[in-house]
Amino acid sequence: ATPTAVTVGVGRAAEYGILIKNGDTLENAGQIDVAAFDKTGTITEGKPEVDDILPYEGSDEDLIRLAASVEQNSTHPIAKAIVNRAKELNLDLAQTSEFENVTGKGLKAEINSKEVLAGNLALMESYDVQVSQEAIDKYHELEKLSKTIIFLAQDKTVKGILSLSDKIKANSKRAIDELHNMGVETYMLTGDNESTALNVAREVGIDNVEAQVLPENKLDIVKKTQANNTKKVLFVGDGINDAPALTQADIGVAMGNGTDIAMESGDIVVMEGDLENVVAAVQFSKKVMRRIK
Ligand code: ADP
Ligand code: MG
Repeated sequence: ATPTAVTVGVGRAAEYGILIKNGDTLENAGQIDVAAFDKTGTITEGKPEVDDILPYEGSDEDLIRLAASVEQNSTHPIAKAIVNRAKELNLDLAQTSEFENVTGKGLKAEINSKEVLAGNLALMESYDVQVSQEAIDKYHELEKLSKTIIFLAQDKTVKGILSLSDKIKANSKRAIDELHNMGVETYMLTGDNESTALNVAREVGIDNVEAQVLPENKLDIVKKTQANNTKKVLFVGDGINDAPALTQADIGVAMGNGTDIAMESGDIVVMEGDLENVVAAVQFSKKVMRRIK
């Protein structure tokens, strides 16, 4: 039978917006050695906005129209930002066919029988698009400013670059500090580019960064951390791509404003997506377990 303290604990946590799906979770949560975080939507707001619009030919509108035509097929925060910009500019979008989501890299579709790609540098490499030195230099310049950079290519030719930026949540730094004070080591695992990932990690004080990580690799990193060091790992995420890692971790914490699949995969769901609630869940578990022992 479940000890009363656990039942009471689960109920009390719920009052604070921390949904603990399974009482056994409490035992693990108080003993974690490592906390690993997704970046977009977890450390940051997950509501990026388009900053730079850099067409190599044609107008800004042409580039946004091309990008939004492909992105209208996706629900990724990047897609929403680009489609919103097209709406603000009252642009008519083109019809697409053969749409494909290229996990961790971007999107592919056909417009008027031409292949259109929207995504990161790895996507361009995967589809043999030649990227000029000029474009690479621009990429490095924007990367230093912590921006997410999207290349647009049509028929294997780069048509331009879009950059997006996403604000760090107000409580992220404080939450990371508190975890460090509890002796917990922190990691950030993200599909975004390295420089942007490092800058965000530095701003919030995260110890270790793994960037350009594909979803299956988020799972592998969690596994490796658990196995090598016999450590208990808590993973925090919000996206479809975080679901495997949320399931693998000793404690999976999903952001309450995240995707349904993330919330299904987590052991704990924190409302408002507030990272302070993640810390509260850990502190709370320690308290409840102390009472049981
Ligand atoms: P994250 O860990 O940041 O949530 P994702 O796996 O969702 O990462 O995305 C990783 C990278 O893939 C993004 O930073 C972006 O470069 C590219 N990408 C993902 N989805 C899209 C999209 N809809 N349009 C363009 N690029 C995308
Ligand atoms: Mg995310």
